[in-house]
Amino acid sequence: AAVEGFDVEDVEGAIEEAGHGPLPVLAVVGRPNVGKSTLVNRIIGRREAVVEDKPGVTRDRVTYEAEWAGRRFKVVDTGGWEQDVLGIDASVAAQAEYAIEAADAVVFVVDAKVGVTDTDEAVVRLLRKAGKPVVLCANKVDGPSGEADATALWSLGIGEPHPVSSLHGRGTGDMLDAVLEALPEAPEQSFGTAVGGPRRIALIGRPNVGKSSLLNKVANEERVVVNEIAGTTRDPVDELIELGGVVWKFVDTAGIRKRVHLQQGADYYASLRTAAAVEKAEVAVILIDASESISVQDQRIVTMAVEAGRAMVIAYNKWDTLDEERRYYLEREIETEFGQVAWAPRVNVSARTGRHMEKLVPAIETALAGWETRVPTGRLNAFLGELVAAHPHPIRGGKQPRILFGTQAGTKPPRFVLFASGFIEAGYRRFIERRLREEFGFDGTPIHISVRVRE
Ligand code: GDP
Ligand code: GDP
Repeated sequence: AAVEGFDVEDVEGAIEEAGHGPLPVLAVVGRPNVGKSTLVNRIIGRREAVVEDKPGVTRDRVTYEAEWAGRRFKVVDTGGWEQDVLGIDASVAAQAEYAIEAADAVVFVVDAKVGVTDTDEAVVRLLRKAGKPVVLCANKVDGPSGEADATALWSLGIGEPHPVSSLHGRGTGDMLDAVLEALPEAPEQSFGTAVGGPRRIALIGRPNVGKSSLLNKVANEERVVVNEIAGTTRDPVDELIELGGVVWKFVDTAGIRKRVHLQQGADYYASLRTAAAVEKAEVAVILIDASESISVQDQRIVTMAVEAGRAMVIAYNKWDTLDEERRYYLEREIETEFGQVAWAPRVNVSARTGRHMEKLVPAIETALAGWETRVPTGRLNAFLGELVAAHPHPIRGGKQPRILFGTQAGTKPPRFVLFASGFIEAGYRRFIERRLREEFGFDGTPIHISVRVRE
């Protein structure tokens, strides 16, 4: 495409970059103190301390975007949580399990100075079972004298140990090259590949909002499909459930059903589980306890789904308990707390009484349709042309930036690139997003708009 004032390569490059599909996911696992967080910081190229001194410190963020040798991917860090009531092996195993499940490849970090421990062996068993590509990181090899320690890790039987010093950066480049070889270009669960396979739903929400009750309700009332269906891999943590005549895959239901209650680190554990489920799903059904005030934790979960670029439905549960007063305040809270996601279809349900369960599927279908919407370039530019003519960008410094051309570079979620003659202000970008939504729908999906400005 030729756009006035832009090189053809720039235009094509911008469209390709904006059009990238979901990124492959790399999980970094290992027992506490081997240097996972230090390594993650290294990988994402950030110096600020993710490494916490206090054990059991809650961290919400577990997924980060990274780039190496021009390829982008996501990193799931499991370093935020220390040993707790479960005992060390179970704790490490539980968090590694979630991370591995959501990942397309795994970096297994071992402290080469310490050597192989029983806990490391336990993780190796998990890795074998999962069958995902593994890159073995022999960490804390700060100098040549540590190389022998790294070599000793061949004994784990999972391939070549890569000697690394996460602290100083030594060897990380070679290890990342190996990571890129292990990572598929697009996620394993690439949204395009499971043609005809069931759509994947992550049922998420903070503890006690009613996830397990809702799952039981839908799974009991509808036929639970246990046989294998074309395009599905059997995964014991996922459940196939028929709803509204369609089979859906609820991901990570084991995490919902297991109901592991931990004293320390429970929040972190919940965040990790939520992030992993969102990564595996196409659509997030976010459950909110309508009987209580919308909390910061609710908002974080919504943000997680939006940032992951997933389709989204918000279900307000425990509707059976609401009196008129609470209903009034709930509406005000939704306006102020969830104004940014007013595009998400909303259902008011009760997992206890079954109220409005039948509205869940249409809402999910609406969200998925919005998520997959593609606007033809001709139509988009006709729309943009009229919009810009009727509502031009405010004049700044005697100049009026214009949108010259736009195209939708990708879907799932919809991603747009706009080419402009000058800097487009945030307010005007939001205005364009609003009008795009009014014109083309996009219910239930975040949309990305990037703007390229002519040099
Ligand atoms: P995590 O619990 O696995 O996330 O481990 P951390 O990243 O919190 O690191 C645990 C400790 O090991 C910290 O004190 C780090 O500074 C230290 N550490 C991490 N990587 C290296 C390394 O490559 N060399 C050395 N000498 N120390 C490291
Ligand atoms: P989870 O932690 O999100 O899986 O939440 P649970 O499904 O365990 O539910 C937490 C509590 O809320 C339980 O005592 C449920 O019986 C109760 N609960 C769940 N859904 C509803 C509902 O729709 N109405 C009412 N009144 N209680 C509910």
